[in-house]
Amino acid sequence: MAISESVSIDRVYKILMNVKDPEIDSVSIIDLGMVEEVTHSGNSVKVVLLPTFLGCPALEIIKKNTIDAIKQLPEVGDVEVEFVFHPPWTSDRITEEGHANLRAFGIAPPPRHFEEDGSWHVDCAYCGSTYVTMENIFGPTACRSILYCKSCKNVFEAMKPVSTLL
Ligand SMILES: [Zn+2]
Repeated sequence: MAISESVSIDRVYKILMNVKDPEIDSVSIIDLGMVEEVTHSGNSVKVVLLPTFLGCPALEIIKKNTIDAIKQLPEVGDVEVEFVFHPPWTSDRITEEGHANLRAFGIAPPPRHFEEDGSWHVDCAYCGSTYVTMENIFGPTACRSILYCKSCKNVFEAMKPVSTLL
């Protein structure tokens, strides 16, 4: 057994794929584009995360889960997690895999584009229909909205888009 195996950033990223959003456990913080930077000094690892939504109360849980996950790597000593607000997180940071994983959870991923008036539109998370109406913009958490699909008659949630342009 190597006593002083050095810390691999790749291995840290890989294990961060196991750190899921506490409310949407099909998507990881990597999928969500929350991981801004991973650095290490000796066997200490520092992770810089961008909070996804200001209204989501899950940051402390994400921080704890991130630390717990990285500490599973035997070569890692201390783990520090810092949340930064610059650059600001936007929903464009969600990866393609993140979009697929959101859909797998029955949540429509945030739209990539806004209309000129700032409005946005998502397709049904179940059938892909564009024939959807907004039921309740506030949804179960500040970051999700409830929509209703008139094609397949399902109610589904959508992640609100976040853009620095608005
Ligand atoms: Zn539908």
